[in-house]
Amino acid sequence: MTPSTARITAVDTYDIRFPTSRELDGSDAMNPDPDYSAAYLILRTDAGDGLEGHGFTFTIGRGNDVQVAAIDALRGHIVGRPLDALCADPGSLNRDLIGDSQLRWLGPEKGVMHMAIGAVVNAVWDLAAKRADKPLWKLLADADPEWLVSQVDFRYIADVLTREEALGLLRRGAPDRVAREADLLRRGYPGYTTSPGWLGYSDEKLTRLARRAVADGFTQIKLKVGADLGDDIRRLRAARAAVGPDFRIAIDANQRWNVGEAIEWTKALTEFDPYWVEEPTSPDDILGHAAVRAAVAPVKVATGEHVQNRIVFKQLLQAEAIDILQIDAARVGGVNENLAILLLAAKFGIPVCPHAGGVGLCELVQHLSMFDYVALSGTTEDRVIEYVDHLHGHFENPVVMRRGHYAAPLAPGFSAEMRAASIEEYTYPDGAFWAADLVTRETAA
Ligand SMILES: [Mg+2]
Repeated sequence: MTPSTARITAVDTYDIRFPTSRELDGSDAMNPDPDYSAAYLILRTDAGDGLEGHGFTFTIGRGNDVQVAAIDALRGHIVGRPLDALCADPGSLNRDLIGDSQLRWLGPEKGVMHMAIGAVVNAVWDLAAKRADKPLWKLLADADPEWLVSQVDFRYIADVLTREEALGLLRRGAPDRVAREADLLRRGYPGYTTSPGWLGYSDEKLTRLARRAVADGFTQIKLKVGADLGDDIRRLRAARAAVGPDFRIAIDANQRWNVGEAIEWTKALTEFDPYWVEEPTSPDDILGHAAVRAAVAPVKVATGEHVQNRIVFKQLLQAEAIDILQIDAARVGGVNENLAILLLAAKFGIPVCPHAGGVGLCELVQHLSMFDYVALSGTTEDRVIEYVDHLHGHFENPVVMRRGHYAAPLAPGFSAEMRAASIEEYTYPDGAFWAADLVTRETAA
């Protein structure tokens, strides 16, 4: 690529909300009525090549405006950056954003501000991959291990994972990389589906969708639990009858329980052979997760969608508190921090089964798992990416599922780009959908 003087000229932000609560899509024991939303940004440049960087983080409705304001607060760090330098080293921006000494007070490295950083950093990676004319997973898988390691912030994790160890883990997989890439392109990456299991669905809908999951080639489904034990027993019985004895069923409590309750409730469901119990208690309670894990084995313990940074993941691994590590593409500080978390998981030999669904989380996180398979862990055994069949049509390059597998995306970028018409219609509160909705509600009132 010829060197250019092009720079980032603007960071445009959008509050996008979808009215998913009306169908109880996404309903669980802690989140009964989510309106799936994206705090979304577009990086614009003066390169004249038509390329933009798209990124977002996911929220479930109220507060999405707060999340957008947090992205706006980062604008000064981004506008004016030279494109060549930024895309050659997204880690430099990552460090500057995390290191803003005044904004850091709002975290550090957690919550709304950290999610905003993740959205911005992911938008830079989207732009970098588009400029390299590669899907992000391939940009990462083709990268020199030395460079990949330079993208990782080892601060606060170096006691457990050194730069040299990380380099060793990346070099270990190098010899078979080409064969694994060919396998990925042929077979895709295994997924599992949560679509049958939302708490607000009837038993009839649960059974129908569970049967469809088997027919569609999935090997695992997940059910939301934790609101009412009697209901959970009845729903798990229906699900087990629908899928048969040899099919994995995971259960997800979405942080509903205290530690003791988590143990008792999970044990009360063991006759249905749950494969993992997800988010049994607070995502901050590392020792609580360890206690649950010790008590409910052989049921596995999974968590991560609300784990706020690499440091908490480090401790979950150190404390032997989890069997399954669930990264989320848009919860932590973006691709750079997820590289650190994937490296930690590889060091401990713990399978990564990403959280997805929401708005665009499947589109994003598939790239990280595919990189992990091709260039890091080298395996898909006992690894599955969550799949939920909502809202994909709003994206320019939606995920493609074949026989229960995510097909490897081929379009350049991070698959983050939402259709312009969808952004326009669902921008809150002035987009066409919400403006019309307000008129309807005012008329009814
Ligand atoms: Mg979950």
